[in-house]
Parts: sequence; C-alpha cells; structure tokens
Amino acid sequence: MSDASPRLTDVGYIRDLLDRHGFHFSKKLGQNFLINPSVCPRMAEACGAAPDTGVLEIGPGIGVLTRELAHRAGKVVSIELDDRLPPVLAETLAGQDNVSFVWGDCMKLDLPAIIAEQFGDRPVAVCANLPYYITSPIVMMLLESRLPVENITVMVQKEAAQRLCAAPGTREAGAVTLAVQYYAEAQTLFGVSRGSFLPAPNVDSAVIRLTIRKEPPCHVQDERQMFRLIRAGFNQRRKTLLNSLTAAGFGKAAIAAALEAAGLSATARAEELTLTDWAAVSDALGA
Ligand code: SAM
Repeated sequence: MSDASPRLTDVGYIRDLLDRHGFHFSKKLGQNFLINPSVCPRMAEACGAAPDTGVLEIGPGIGVLTRELAHRAGKVVSIELDDRLPPVLAETLAGQDNVSFVWGDCMKLDLPAIIAEQFGDRPVAVCANLPYYITSPIVMMLLESRLPVENITVMVQKEAAQRLCAAPGTREAGAVTLAVQYYAEAQTLFGVSRGSFLPAPNVDSAVIRLTIRKEPPCHVQDERQMFRLIRAGFNQRRKTLLNSLTAAGFGKAAIAAALEAAGLSATARAEELTLTDWAAVSDALGA
C-alpha cells in the first residue's frame, strides 16, 4: 500500500469517511467493519489470491478486504446490497482498476452467471467477511449452487465456524456440517476477536476455508432425499432415527428396513452416522 492510501483500518479515518458520506452502520445488514490490520492480508493470502486468479467478494463495506484482494488477485468482483456504499467505495478504492461491483442481494443474484461473465477461465475463490445474520444460508447457497470456485474463505461467527467445520460425531456437528462435508473440506484457519470490528459485535469470529471437492466423498442416488433425511434426523437429534424420520413423514417400516439394509441399528441417532451411512440409508429407502 502506498503512503498516500487511506488506512481503511484506522478508526479515525473511518469515522471521518463515514461522517462525510452521512453513513450510519446498519445492524440489519450485519455491518461490522474490520479494523484489525492483520486480518484482511491473512484472508487474502488464505484464499490464494494471485495475479492469474479472480476473487468474488460478498459485502465489501468500505473496501478494507477488497483492497487487499485487489493487490494480489488479477480481478475482484464484489457484491454489495447497501446502496449507500457506492460513493464511499468510489473514494476508498479510487484507482483500483481491477475491482468491479455488482449491487444487489447475493442471495438473489445469479452467481454462476456472474462468475462466468466476469472471470472467464481464471481460477476463482470466494473471500468475504460475511454478515452474521445470514452466514449459514450464504454458505449453503454458495455450496449448493456448485459454483466453479476453488475455495470459499470466509469470516463467520465463532460458533458458526465450529458448526460448519465440526468433526462428524461431535456435539457441534449438525445437518449443516454434513452438507459442508459433502461439497468441501472444511478447515478453521484462525480466530478473530470481537474487538477487531467497528462496531464491535457481541461475539468472536473465525476465518474458515472450505476447499471445494472435485467429487463428493460418497455416491448417493438422490442427493435431495439424503439431505432431507439428514435435516429430519438432526431436527430431533436426541430421538432415534426410527422416531425422528418417522415424525418427519417417512414410513416407519420403510425406515426400519432401510436402516437394517444400511447395516445400522434401529436405535441409531443422527450424530452417529457418517455421510456414507446417510447415503446408504437414502439409497436403501429408494425414491
Ligand atoms: N468486508 C467489510 C469488512 O470486512 O469490513 C464489511 C463486512 S460486513 C460484516 C458485511 C457486509 O455485507 C456489509 O457491507 C453489508 O452491507 C453487506 N451485506 C449484507 N447483506 C448482504 C447481502 N444479502 N448481499 C450482499 N451484501 C450484503
């Protein structure tokens, strides 16, 4: 960064910038901006940003991470919902020619089309400090839409990181953990304290990296049915699968037969099953 560049992690600079633009933080949009100068460079490195790569960012805020990405990647495309931010970003990222913005809700945009149009054949990573109010839906949307990306490197609330990256069979593991495992290899990279943000949230955070798998770790005939079973099992995780899946509308006799065919006990609970077990139950249950 040149000496003339504004320090986007400097609280005095940020307050002055936002005052001049009449901008107030929106809690509803999960606006906690990073002010710890060591975090964005680490995130940009962790996602593998390099001159021949592209990076898709969600939620640039005032552009603190965007700028670190732009210094390393060939191209950065950043999606922002808050229509008060264009003039702010025009100022903070002035002269950064390899950054472009898409204004809108990342949950409603056609991300595969944006990636194809903007990045062509470049390898692409997703890198973002995600808004807390919508972390898991964004992660699941990114995975389920099978974006052609190498990895998803994101800051999330610490508890969400524990859930997303949990080892199978542990207390933290849930339906979302198995879904993540199906699409990616998940890793927690480092923790980030609440004091690293302006305003400071009531929770700590962590940066995780989901490295997208080329092939799923197990084969299943009907993915959607397997995930319906997984969600039903974890919705009532203390119950046996026979009871939780029956309560979710699957036939009791069919579930009992499927568990047996998959080599599982009738008293098994959701957290005891691996992805391969869920695939076997789903396949045994048939369409
Ligand atoms: N990247 C900045 C940083 O690290 O300081 C800001 C991160 S802040 C936690 C989340 C950002 O996501 C905000 O800029 C917010 O306006 C934006 N945002 C919230 N919901 C969004 C959505 N559905 N689609 C796109 N951007 C969204």
